[in-house]
Amino acid sequence: MNVYALTPRGYCHGVVHAIDVVRKLAADSDVKRPITVLGMVVHNTRIVDDFAALGVRTLHDPTKTRLALLDDIDEGTLVVTAHGVSEAVLEKARDKGLDVIDTTCADVTESQRVVKTYVQQGYTVFFIGKHTHPEAESVRAISPNVIVIESLSDVASTDVKSTAIAITNQTTMSLFDIYHIGKAIRRKYPYAIVLDEQCDATRTRQLAVKHQPSEVEHCFVVGDQHSNNTKKLVETAREAGFSANRIASVEEVNVAALKKLSCVSVTSGASTPSALTREVIRFLQAFDPDSPSTHDTKSTVKNVITMHRR
Ligand code: SF4
Repeated sequence: MNVYALTPRGYCHGVVHAIDVVRKLAADSDVKRPITVLGMVVHNTRIVDDFAALGVRTLHDPTKTRLALLDDIDEGTLVVTAHGVSEAVLEKARDKGLDVIDTTCADVTESQRVVKTYVQQGYTVFFIGKHTHPEAESVRAISPNVIVIESLSDVASTDVKSTAIAITNQTTMSLFDIYHIGKAIRRKYPYAIVLDEQCDATRTRQLAVKHQPSEVEHCFVVGDQHSNNTKKLVETAREAGFSANRIASVEEVNVAALKKLSCVSVTSGASTPSALTREVIRFLQAFDPDSPSTHDTKSTVKNVITMHRR
């Protein structure tokens, strides 16, 4: 099997930082217990499970905002994830007497600073992102003049009279979403200015997928179902004309389908443990359709938070 391991792929600096911080907290007996992460520390179930084994609790409920989730934490240390939170969440946590450890990624902070600046200057800000994503929750809390846009139908339902309009986006959105939705907004509001806040990690991973060798017959994107940037890598590959799917680990490789292929590629989301991606790459490289001994997809990765190598 010819396998292209696309680069860059996998962990971004924001994820490496968040995991390092939580790992050190778990090992420090002076840190107030319980340690609770508000949302998934990064959008990967394996990482969350490994932290649970170290005594770090995760409060995750996609139907609730970060502000609402905080109702269930009354003591100990609160960890803010790389996705960031609104000022209201930080204030409420302080009022509850919690020790707050903030792992918000610098790129998310910068994106929120840009939104605040334009709101203060009187702009209405269209934020291209997922309605339920924590980044969207944070920017919505800045002002009623921030409107989250997830789809073309969201654009159609807007009716903004002001001519001071800025378009920006969630850091992990796809190049294609930003382009297509941004274009629809500009068609409706031609005077809107564009402030692209896609983070470099997301952009470079998507560009590697978009420009992968044309001989690739299928692209495997290793990542968790909760990871937006992973889903966007799949969409990017498909928009660029490649067959692609998301797999959480080697265990989800479809061996029957693989037998019909001779050239594949592998990438992974920014929150995907490197050990899981390496295992997929090794499996594919060794795969021989005529050799059943190379068809065993059982994963042997035990712990995913001990290493941060790409
Ligand atoms: S994907 Fe981008 S914004 Fe999100 S944590 Fe990584 S570097 Fe930061």
